[in-house]
Amino acid sequence: MITVEKARNIVAENLKVLNIQQIKLQESAGRVLAEDIPALFPMPRFDNSAMDGFAVRAVDTADAEKDNAVTLKMIGGVSAGDPGDLVLKPGECAQCMTGAPIPQGADAVVMVEDTSGYDSGGTVQIYLEAYPGKHIRRKGEEISEGDVLIQKKTRITPAEMGTLATFGYRQVQVYRNPRVALMATGDELVKPGQRLQPGQIYNSNLFVFGDLAKRVGAEITMEEIVADDTQALHAFLSQALTECDVVISSGGVSMGRHDYVREIFMELGVKEHLWQVAQKPGKPLFFGTTADTLIFGLPGNPVSSFIGFMEWVWPALEKMMGVTVSGKIPAILEEPFPREPVKTRFLFGQTWLKDGKLVCRPSVKTGSHMLSSSLDANCIISCGPGDGLLAIGEQVQVRMLPWKPIP
Ligand code: AMP
Ligand code: MG
Repeated sequence: MITVEKARNIVAENLKVLNIQQIKLQESAGRVLAEDIPALFPMPRFDNSAMDGFAVRAVDTADAEKDNAVTLKMIGGVSAGDPGDLVLKPGECAQCMTGAPIPQGADAVVMVEDTSGYDSGGTVQIYLEAYPGKHIRRKGEEISEGDVLIQKKTRITPAEMGTLATFGYRQVQVYRNPRVALMATGDELVKPGQRLQPGQIYNSNLFVFGDLAKRVGAEITMEEIVADDTQALHAFLSQALTECDVVISSGGVSMGRHDYVREIFMELGVKEHLWQVAQKPGKPLFFGTTADTLIFGLPGNPVSSFIGFMEWVWPALEKMMGVTVSGKIPAILEEPFPREPVKTRFLFGQTWLKDGKLVCRPSVKTGSHMLSSSLDANCIISCGPGDGLLAIGEQVQVRMLPWKPIP
């Protein structure tokens, strides 16, 4: 049995970012950029109108007001999408819609509401004095050409998508998503929807794994309940090892008579880096590799599997996808925490802000078979080994569950 810290180092040494692929912009939601994104042109790209109205020379509108209108000759109009080759001479104005290029010679726009309107014939009454630059979006005022808009390793959300499209990116370079195989093993496991026979239970771990894998951004390529049977395990795992970047299994890695998973991994040439970590729950954690695949064997108890995924698999998948790996933050205990003498203790819990400080309390259900302890949780609380209860007011570490915000 090795310490959690040592185990983390061992896993970290075996992680690398997956390679890069080029994909279409419309398929890039949620993916992680493998390149810095520069502005290919300034934004705005050309001076254009911020309002619907009339382009004018500001000096021509001096002292204009409702009772003292200035009359300008209307020479035409530009709309968004027009090339913008109109030229304005003194005493002239032009209709100019939002987004339209500003005619040469004009240096301001007067809103249509401050004029006699579009249908005033060959002349237009201007009711408001303009100043140079009024209602003009200046070329480059938002972004200069060449500015880095989005940094490499950023996950693409609506903001990044929109920005990429704004600058005409049709394709982007992203890190490949990990292909994962999810396996639950146990003769007792039955799929929801089937009738339970005496002694059977429903498989819940694959549902937890499946949702977590999707949330972190992995691609699930294999998913199955496999019996505690060496042949069946061999068949599933040998295929998983050839087709996937990561194999995540639940169950069958403990000391039970029918816990064959570790043995099968060995048979299949997996290099074992660790088995059994000083943690509760989840002591029988297995981690191994082949040339191209990482293998996480998590024990089957639902809390061990869920917490094991969040503590060990989730950060590894983040690392492989090139995103910043989510870490832990300190919080102060509002309830005592049941420490373990020689193991790191993980419990689902709640964390919230109190007087500007992060506080937390562990779930009162502490059994590794009690998945309902996850229901109200927004974090996993962890505490290193030590004697007795850790008292209220002491500091522990929390890992946020990213889909459950701090209230
Ligand atoms: P194991 O790690 O195989 O010794 O399993 C430990 C406990 O977790 C046993 O009570 C199993 O019935 C339970 N268990 C194993 N796999 C699952 C699963 N996929 N869903 C729910 N419970 C499970
Ligand atoms: Mg089992």
